[in-house]
Amino acid sequence: MNLQHIKNTSSKINNAVTYTIIPMGTVALADLLIREGYETMIIHTGIEQICNRNFNLEDLIKNYDPLMVGIDLHWYVHSYDAIRISSLIKRLSNAFVVLGGFTASYFAEEILSNFKSIDAVICGDAELPLLKLLKCKDGEDLREVPNLVYRNAESLKRSKDRYVANSSDLNRLNFSNLHLLSNFDEYIRNISQFGDLDPFKDKAKLKTQGWLCLGRGCSVNCSYCGGGKDAFQLLTGRREPVFRAKERVLAELARFEEMKISCVYMDFDPFPEKRDYYHDLFDMIRREKIDISAQFLLWSLSDRNFLRDFNRTFNPLYSTLTLSPESGSEYIRKLNKGFYYSNSELLRWLENIKREMIPIQLYFTSGLSWETVSHFEETIKLAKRMVEEYPVVSISCNPIELEPASPRFLSPKKYGISLKTRKFIDFYNVFKGLAEGLPVHSQLGYETNYLSEPLIIELSQQFREIMSSAQYKKWEKFFFESNL
Ligand code: SF4
Repeated sequence: MNLQHIKNTSSKINNAVTYTIIPMGTVALADLLIREGYETMIIHTGIEQICNRNFNLEDLIKNYDPLMVGIDLHWYVHSYDAIRISSLIKRLSNAFVVLGGFTASYFAEEILSNFKSIDAVICGDAELPLLKLLKCKDGEDLREVPNLVYRNAESLKRSKDRYVANSSDLNRLNFSNLHLLSNFDEYIRNISQFGDLDPFKDKAKLKTQGWLCLGRGCSVNCSYCGGGKDAFQLLTGRREPVFRAKERVLAELARFEEMKISCVYMDFDPFPEKRDYYHDLFDMIRREKIDISAQFLLWSLSDRNFLRDFNRTFNPLYSTLTLSPESGSEYIRKLNKGFYYSNSELLRWLENIKREMIPIQLYFTSGLSWETVSHFEETIKLAKRMVEEYPVVSISCNPIELEPASPRFLSPKKYGISLKTRKFIDFYNVFKGLAEGLPVHSQLGYETNYLSEPLIIELSQQFREIMSSAQYKKWEKFFFESNL
């Protein structure tokens, strides 16, 4: 799921970021349906509201009177909105309403038991199931639809067949047909300017961003991640990461360039010790002379060769590498992250980054398992040094999220945390409260054996204040020296 890579700042901005991004698979699903002859469109209610203050979902539903509506419930932050929208659709139309995405997959039975506005949930990979669902007549053959949990009279059923997309399935998908998204030009422009997702948001008024699908899955389990190896297996049946063919990726990149997308976001790096795939892909991009920037999220450190290759492949205007050390304490990093590296390895990597002059974006967090205030002091110390000595264009710290299906969520005791949000209805109530401006019983949904919830939030806040002052001093010194 990789929500951990989409870090947020504080509660309000938080929602803006996570509510704005759509899972990239949505575009591929819509494209697949179109190719199979189904009239399909993607509506992003947030973008519609940005474009038109008078946007009204009721009118839209009445105008189109859809046969079927798919709602993405991948990230848990959409728990309330997904249900709210489904109720509206049911009230105004006879559409069959189906949910998909990791959060929906994890809570499928609970959602269907409690919310009559949802007819079915596709658990895991949705491409083939969605097509088969559309071909079903009057709900009679729902058992033939793989990955489906559905309501049958008053009871729930789960279909027996499982569909897990393999490499060839992914190669047949098209993730670049953004025209299927209503007001897509507003989406690709706005998306990079919310919250701290974009290191260049202040100068990025002309920047447009696209999402490049390189594959699916992960090879490790970070304690906090709901998209790690075991979570993938639990939610989708996928045992190993799968890559898309480089030729397909290249074709989509070329398409993005044609569409005037200035930067592509790449967040798939499941085997950091073996990055031949990227070297080959970067080589192909250079040979095709595709001129585009890239924000590449490294899941662990890289060698200098990778940095050089990255540097000479992508347009430097918006290009960055992103890394999430999460903690300055090696002890805490080792206990929580699937890919471990020491601080001295990290600093050596930063020296190479400096030599190659690549802007970097760094993510830290508070509230990791077994973390104490003194561990967090190590985080501040390390981060400050990074800001002062290296080409850091953005550095942020936010409380670690509680992701459904993450190791911490599934085994809280083992990871030294207490959950305050366990069921779907808990997530739903939190986001309903936030949407309505009401007090919520817990923002994070957990506390650890060492840190209370308010302290976890406060530590991240402290971090941001210290780093913002360190960055200001660095730039002040830079301008002072260059004006001498
Ligand atoms: S590397 Fe860790 S955080 Fe990234 S997808 Fe894998 S388990 Fe999740």
